[in-house]
Amino acid sequence: MADIIKLLPDHVANQIAAGEVVQRPASVVKELLENAIDAGATTIILIVKDGGKVLVQVVDDGSGMSATDARLSFERHATSKIQKAEDLFNLDTKGFRGEALASIAAIAHVEMQTKPEADELGTVLKIEGSKIVSQEVEVMTKGTSIAVKNLFFNIPARRNFLKSNQVELRHITDEFHRVALAHPSIAFHFHNNGSEMFNLPISNHRQRIVNVFGSKTNPKLVPVQEETQVVKISGFINKPEFAKKSRGEQFFFVNHRFIKSPYLHHAVVNAFEGLIRSDTHPGYFLYLEVDPASIDINIHPTKTEVKFDDEHTLYAILRSTIKHSLGQFNVIAALDFEQDQNLETPYAYKNRNAELPKVTVDAGFNPFQETTRKQSTGNSYRRESALGGKAWESLYVGLESKVGKEQSLDIIQFESEAITGSVFNNQPQAEESTSTTFQLRRKYIVTTIKSGMVVIDQSRAHQRVLYEKFLKNITIQEAVSQQLLFPIELSFTPADMVILNEIKDSLSTIGFVFGTLEGETIEITGVPILVSESEVGMVLDQLISDYQMEISGESFSQTDMLAKTLAKTLSVKTGELLDSQSQLALVNDLFACKEAQVSPFNKTVYTTITENDIDKKFI
Ligand code: ADP
Ligand code: MG
Repeated sequence: MADIIKLLPDHVANQIAAGEVVQRPASVVKELLENAIDAGATTIILIVKDGGKVLVQVVDDGSGMSATDARLSFERHATSKIQKAEDLFNLDTKGFRGEALASIAAIAHVEMQTKPEADELGTVLKIEGSKIVSQEVEVMTKGTSIAVKNLFFNIPARRNFLKSNQVELRHITDEFHRVALAHPSIAFHFHNNGSEMFNLPISNHRQRIVNVFGSKTNPKLVPVQEETQVVKISGFINKPEFAKKSRGEQFFFVNHRFIKSPYLHHAVVNAFEGLIRSDTHPGYFLYLEVDPASIDINIHPTKTEVKFDDEHTLYAILRSTIKHSLGQFNVIAALDFEQDQNLETPYAYKNRNAELPKVTVDAGFNPFQETTRKQSTGNSYRRESALGGKAWESLYVGLESKVGKEQSLDIIQFESEAITGSVFNNQPQAEESTSTTFQLRRKYIVTTIKSGMVVIDQSRAHQRVLYEKFLKNITIQEAVSQQLLFPIELSFTPADMVILNEIKDSLSTIGFVFGTLEGETIEITGVPILVSESEVGMVLDQLISDYQMEISGESFSQTDMLAKTLAKTLSVKTGELLDSQSQLALVNDLFACKEAQVSPFNKTVYTTITENDIDKKFI
């Protein structure tokens, strides 16, 4: 029988291996960004065309490569980052396999320009399907630019597997987020189809998070800080009230590398227990630093999983750290402080390292010698309480001034209102009629009912009313649109346009009619009846940002989100003065709702105060 086993030709073997590293354009983005970081860049530019299918380019101002290194970098297992197996246990670079560039070069057209600081001239290399097709010398600045064009040009099956440009762009954006969040000390720029999507200056972690996810993020963040011998934890968790139905802003970084860890995720969720509803997910940005020798990142080709030596300890520390931060935040929230970052806390644990308990025996100990024993316990106790006492005192001072001021304001205003309303007004009050309403502090609408009175939060009530109206419009799919005499033209960023395209259909069902939706402008020829022309821009902005925040959830309903956002954006706000007719209309609309008690965001809409309740106050 003839021999049947053959060695695969190099280019086939390369393509197969490449599939491990490069699944989609986002994988290329990740590898190139990480190489730029490993090269010590301080500014990194990412350029993407058509979801990365046409072009992914990364330009850095890092170390650059000599002509020889440039050629070598495309060989499989060519790496400058490790030399021997032991080095694997001391990694402080992202890459170490020497596989990425070789893999990418096997399945795309690659153009590299690179120059180290010391060299006069740089190298320009062109590679197609693993073959160097040209090498030139050129004048350029220090650093490296790698452009990857026509990904999978030689593997049509893989190319056909790629999703729409929008979906691929979203994967790229996810990778970009992860890298950018891990490295706030590096400036990042991201251009998509010729427009800037992100411009992230060098900053601290908090600013970086806000620059990536928008200024709305800032007030949500609660700082987390802990340092033990095993791990140093820093970063932020989102306040419990911002927990979301969808997962999403959940980031673990270990030694500046984004990782996924269901186990550690569980520790965080566990710490939030009782503070968030069980069907919602907490947001977090947690940066862990551990001894590189205590982790193994070599277990997964795309390197987002990490094996820790002592997972259980890590779990326990993480959980208690988060709990502590939440507790601290709760105390602060209850006191209504603004400046939570700088608050002094009665907490000494953060400066303490985990220590093995020491067992010492006092040879001279005499249980009958009263004085010594008393003294020792007394001392340590006093020290503890002195520390704690001081910090609590400072909390208390804040409480007094803040709450005190608010309250006195309250009383004055309420009294004056009460005086004009009932004491000096000689006209008899039509108190038995249900049509009596008045507005309290431009926030609540008070109306009488048989058993007493109802106090309604005007903004939440209106949200409920609008929400149910929109849902109804969506489900009955009636023509709820008003045609505009003159179409409105609005401009959006490319990232926003991507989202608008995704939610276009749902927007149509609630009554938006689009003329054109191209480039950076959209033309709107019809708007929902409940939306006025002047509100359109604001409504769409809000929709986009809400959609962005919810985007990664799998099981969320687009129409429900749209209805909520519209309700929130268009509702009457606290502080708005309502005439008595509007008050009455709102009250009637509210009680015609299916679920009048809660707002679309599950907040209490009204409370009743019965005659009985009032009587009790007069005992
Ligand atoms: P790895 O990152 O695992 O070492 P790669 O295939 O990603 O493997 O890169 C191979 C080598 O090419 C790197 O070890 C590095 O020496 C060099 N290299 C790649 N990208 C850059 C860059 N942007 N700047 C400088 N050197 C680079
Ligand atoms: Mg690499």
